[in-house]
Amino acid sequence: MNVLPYGRQSIDEQDIAAVVEVLRSDFLTQGPAVQRFEAAVTDWCGARHGLAVANGTAALHLAAQALGLGPGDWLWTSPITFVASANCARYCGAQVDFVDVDPGTINLCPRRLAEKLQAAEKEGRLPKVVVPVHFGGQSCAMDEIQALAQKYGFRLMEDASHALGGTYLGERVGNCRWSDVVTHSFHPVKIVTSGEGGMMTTNDAALHQRMATLRSHGITRDPAQMVGESEGGWYYQQVELGYNYRMTDIQAMLGASQMNKLERFVARRREIAALYDKVLAGLPVTPLMRDSRAESAWHLYMIRLDLTAIPHTRREVFDRLRAQGILVNVHYIPVHLQPDYARLGFTAGMFPEAERYYQECITLPMFPAMTDDDVQRVRESLFMAVQ
Ligand SMILES: *Cc1c(COP(=O)(O)O)cnc(C)c1O
Repeated sequence: MNVLPYGRQSIDEQDIAAVVEVLRSDFLTQGPAVQRFEAAVTDWCGARHGLAVANGTAALHLAAQALGLGPGDWLWTSPITFVASANCARYCGAQVDFVDVDPGTINLCPRRLAEKLQAAEKEGRLPKVVVPVHFGGQSCAMDEIQALAQKYGFRLMEDASHALGGTYLGERVGNCRWSDVVTHSFHPVKIVTSGEGGMMTTNDAALHQRMATLRSHGITRDPAQMVGESEGGWYYQQVELGYNYRMTDIQAMLGASQMNKLERFVARRREIAALYDKVLAGLPVTPLMRDSRAESAWHLYMIRLDLTAIPHTRREVFDRLRAQGILVNVHYIPVHLQPDYARLGFTAGMFPEAERYYQECITLPMFPAMTDDDVQRVRESLFMAVQ
């Protein structure tokens, strides 16, 4: 059976030729392709600095650590995200808490955030870092969240893994207009891919330098950053404990080549989303609410099932679609319900909007190579699955 995955990469002959060129060159890693990819993403976003890393999870970890997150600190994020948005705090020895989502957009809710900050201030446990996640590619209400960051003095790290190519209030996601640092992912299901890969964009030169040092073992070759004098041309110093989170030139060249197609990819994703909106009208399902301030990059197209109007459970609808070769998915299992978070004291009932959404949601196939006929096929299969 011809299957439709929920997401997949689009690789063309130009991408393949670009990668082959790297394989024939002098550098497989620590060469020129990494800077080329960094420049492509940074220029697109309109940020000052960009730093490519091994994956989006490494980007979150380095950004959190460079913002000074450590033991005794709190990081807050959305419960409806991939686990990595929360795990980055724990890599730094900090603690995680969650802010419930807006029931329309399923993005971190600024009103809930304001309430939680007010309570936390009284208890003296304000967060050091908040991580809004642009769910499905639609930006969070960043102007409102930034105003709260200024009022309460926390740092902002946007998880834009879904949102490269999106905008908020007419400005491109990733330009750091609203935050200290924005993290990106280039996993194959994301908007553009480097196989595995991640990046941080920032306008803060000091933050950029700190992240660059942490990316490569905490080592510097810059005499200005050294303790004492350089001992010669071979000399380097480890000035803090870092990691090997570098991206290879093979990955970076694929990413750079993919960036040439970002605009086209996102335009096609928008067409597919508009077609879904049209053909799903009349079925007992609702797409997520649109925020008129944001243009989504449409990484994912989610629907909520009206389970009062459907004679099946979500699980049955999911299984019926999969049986038809429509490889739907569920984004996401609320992070606080994962066993490893339950161990930290989180329980069901703590974030009711997130939990309600999780009971009803299904992610439909969405990728640039999908045809209009594929969208019709998803519509027909969904129509049958909810009978
Ligand atoms: C994909 C993703 C990540 C992690 O990215 P990797 O490149 O897979 O490490 C983090 N946050 C969100 C919201 C993601 O979708």
